[in-house]
Formats: sequence, structure tokens, C-alpha cells
Amino acid sequence: MRAMVLERQRQPLRPAEPPDPRPASGQVLVSVATCGVCRTDLHIVDGDLTEPKLPLVPGHQIVGSVVGRGERAERFALGDRVGVPWLGWTCGECRYCTSGRENLCDRGRFTGYDIDGGYAELAVADERFCFPIPAGYPDEQAAPLLCAGLIGYRALRLVGDAERIGFYGFGASAHILCQIAVHQGRRVFAFTREGDEAGQEFARSLGAEWAGSSDGPAPEQLDGAIVFAPVGALMPAALRASAKGARIISAGIHMSEIPAFPYQILWGERMLGSVANLTRRDAEEFLRLAPQVPVRTEVEVYPLAEANRALDDLRASRFRAAAVLDI
Ligand SMILES: [Zn+2]
Ligand SMILES: [Zn+2]
Repeated sequence: MRAMVLERQRQPLRPAEPPDPRPASGQVLVSVATCGVCRTDLHIVDGDLTEPKLPLVPGHQIVGSVVGRGERAERFALGDRVGVPWLGWTCGECRYCTSGRENLCDRGRFTGYDIDGGYAELAVADERFCFPIPAGYPDEQAAPLLCAGLIGYRALRLVGDAERIGFYGFGASAHILCQIAVHQGRRVFAFTREGDEAGQEFARSLGAEWAGSSDGPAPEQLDGAIVFAPVGALMPAALRASAKGARIISAGIHMSEIPAFPYQILWGERMLGSVANLTRRDAEEFLRLAPQVPVRTEVEVYPLAEANRALDDLRASRFRAAAVLDI
């Protein structure tokens, strides 16, 4: 099969033709139609995340159809359209797995990190961690739902019932979550880089009540915030913009150092937190909700062979929503 492979971190992906993967017991073989490009992929390529399998096929927002089944894989029929997200395997036995927190599994394995992912024509996946894609979403538009959408959705849940919610960084994940938050009756305030007027306009077009610079003042106090950009300084910035009791959640897997701040801006039961990975329950809930909103995703499509260009464009914020590889 054709694939784009990471041989060593801090080097571009290389086109390669590894042997076709074979589904093991409980796994399905997926013919990949599209695969979303996530900021986590950048952190893996750039060496911010230090323990990927190598060589590695990145990609954890896979949309494709089942073309083979290993022994005891019975959940999907041949031809079914499935999505494969970041959470690829959990042990089912540790104290996290047995308490509804499999996202924190001590031995969890992740697609496009510990397991080869979707920057390839074929991928294998544990059928228990695959999900039917809602009808009505073309393959390109469905891919960003699988991480930008559903890990963002978990972050939104952790923020609680905040009415005035701040989004710091407005890209793939925020453009989906903005639609969900507005659907839930929340008021969205989008904070982008100083001068990013296109991003601010994009946020308003998706229902944000206000959009402006993350350096400037907020028009009102926030009841909660999600920090999507991997910029540690945004955590105290969001605290300063928040009302008492606000929860500030970082939605990314990696962030630059958070600068020191006075206790006074945390006081008043404000909380800082992070979201890690996803549970299967998050995926089921989110994929049920998305077509009801209905969430529409905006995608920039690249051919598989141009995966490095997609990653570079993401690094440089050259597109406004989500990048997707068309396999
Ligand atoms: Zn576990
Ligand atoms: Zn991701």
C-alpha cells in the first residue's frame, strides 16, 4: 500500500510502500478514504511527544470502509463506513478503565502514535474502538469530527454549564465546538491572535457573539474557557478574563510552559485543567449530537502525497479550519 511514514522525528514524512497490514483477532481492515490532520500529528513529527512507534504511519481521524475482518471481528460488516479515532486500545482492567475513565488508561494505545494510523491506503483497528460515521457527512467533512470534534466535545463537558464560554485559538476544534456551544444556548467569545481578522470573522460566522484579540480585554467576564492553542500564556490570560467559579480547560496534548501568575487570579474557585484523550462514550455521544446540530465542518483537502505540505500549512496557520488528506 501507499503510505506517508515518519521514520525519525523532526524529519519530513517519507512516501513509502509498506506491506498491506493484516487484521489480527478482533480487528478490522479499513480502506482509508480520508484522514484528518491534527495538531497532535505536528507534535509527534516535531518531537514534542517523545515516544511514538517508529517508523510510524501518523493520522488518527480516519474515515474509511471495512474491507477485511480478523477472527472474532463481528461488529461491522464488509463495506460498512467507520471512523477510527485517537483512542486505539485500552486494557479494560486498570483503575481508570474500571471506573469509566478509559481515556486515562495506564496502558492505553493511540492511533497514529503507538499504532499505525491513516496517512495510508489501509489501516487496521480494534473494532471496539471504531464508530459508525453518521450518514449525511461526506468522507472529507466527517474526518475532523473524530478528534477536533470529539476531544473538543470532551473539553466542553469539562467546562461544565458555563453560559459565557471563551475559546482561545479558533481552528479545527473550535470551529466545530462553536456550533455545538451555540446549539446548547451558550454565548461564545472567540480569542485569536492579535490582527487575525479572518479568524475572528470566521468565528462570528459560526455563531460567536464576539471575536477579538487574546491580548486585549474581554467584553464580559467568562464563566469558562477552552484553550485550544498550545500556548501556555493563554491559561493565565483566560483566568484573568474569567468570573469566579470558571473552569479553564486546555484541550491540547502539548502546551508551552505556563508562566507564573498571582494566586489572586485563581482565587474564587476558578480552576485550571486539562482534557486527555477520549472515552468511547464521548465518541458515541458526540457522533449522535453532531448531525442534530447539525455541525458543518470546513476542510482544506490535500492528496496523501502532500501530507508534509498539510502539516506545514497547519504549523503556519495557512488555512482557517481543518486539513484533511484525501487518500
Ligand atoms: Zn486500562
Ligand atoms: Zn487529534
